[in-house]
Amino acid sequence: SIYLDYNASAPIDSRVLATMIDIYKNHIGNADSRTHDHGDQARVIVENARKDVAGLLGISSSEVFFTSGATESNNIAIQGLEEYALKSGKNHIITTSIEHKAILETAKSMVRRGFEIDIIDPEPTGRVSVEKIVEKVRDNTLLVSVMHVNNETGIIQPIEELGLELGKRDILFHIDATQSCGKLVQELRNAKYNMLSFSAHKLRGPQGVGVLVLRRTGYKLPPVKAIMYGGQQEHGIRPGTIPVALVGGCGKACEIAADEYKNNSIKTKAVKTALLAILKESGLTYSFNGDQKHCLDSTVNLCLQGVSSEALMLSTKEYCSISNGSACTSKSYEPSYVLKAMKISVEQIEDSIRISWGPDTNLDEFKKQFSKLLEMAKVLVN
Ligand code: PMP
Repeated sequence: SIYLDYNASAPIDSRVLATMIDIYKNHIGNADSRTHDHGDQARVIVENARKDVAGLLGISSSEVFFTSGATESNNIAIQGLEEYALKSGKNHIITTSIEHKAILETAKSMVRRGFEIDIIDPEPTGRVSVEKIVEKVRDNTLLVSVMHVNNETGIIQPIEELGLELGKRDILFHIDATQSCGKLVQELRNAKYNMLSFSAHKLRGPQGVGVLVLRRTGYKLPPVKAIMYGGQQEHGIRPGTIPVALVGGCGKACEIAADEYKNNSIKTKAVKTALLAILKESGLTYSFNGDQKHCLDSTVNLCLQGVSSEALMLSTKEYCSISNGSACTSKSYEPSYVLKAMKISVEQIEDSIRISWGPDTNLDEFKKQFSKLLEMAKVLVN
């Protein structure tokens, strides 16, 4: 069956896996051991990985901090500001209603700790308005957190304009770049921000490792503190033994992305072009959720009118792994909060699926399976 759920997790690149196996086999040790060569070698791997991440993002390696993934990075970026907020009296956070739960739930949890938050809805296009965010800025605004690309819709947010606007004011800007890192490479290199998060597994690295970027202003890091107690790893920002093979795999994935992102985009675009052509020919009534002018090449959120996404996913799961991009458990079905925030009707949300792919998606196989999926949709339409 064809895997078309890359936004949930992308398959590991075989070169990344080979790098990791080599590390597991031949580079044992703790990167913080200072008394033997094994420790030294592990440290070299970690520091090289840090350079590869920095190279991809166009920043200094001293601004790269390894974590267990975007969820942890997002938590540190927000919770880690508590002490500074108490000292400075700045305790207002602005974010959006289409963020991943790792941002939304963390931000909401800060209300209990005396923070004030504003959560901005997107436009029906799926994009958040820079003006609406800037309008909410107050004297005590500490942080604005906006994702670069939404995981459910693939819609690209105006982070470059936002960075410029917020840069003029004394406000921290955090970007959740989990879905764009390694894809919108130039955009991220151009963007102005103070903090950035991503997970390696979305750019074909291993699961369980990610990065929090803390940009320096002069020599100064943003005023975040660790949210766990422990050792002094990662400058105390993220205590705990550094998982050398995971970090090495993350570095390798970033190195590959930096070399190949332009070519990758040509390949993912070809899949999208095929998807649109097959869809047009199908005779089905459809629409896209989100303004496709601002959509990633490797994602669509598609509403097939009259075709329940639940029924479609069930009847096609033998040959297609797709999702409806929402929390769906066996007990309860909740329509996507992202699509709801875009003012899409519940009926339309129920008929919406998310398809996401990558540079290694086989075009012919895609055409074959996507055509089959649409044939099934025709059977199910009511
Ligand atoms: N942010 C975004 C935008 C995401 O898409 C995801 C993963 N779905 C995360 C954060 C969390 O990543 P992880 O589960 O790897 O911590």
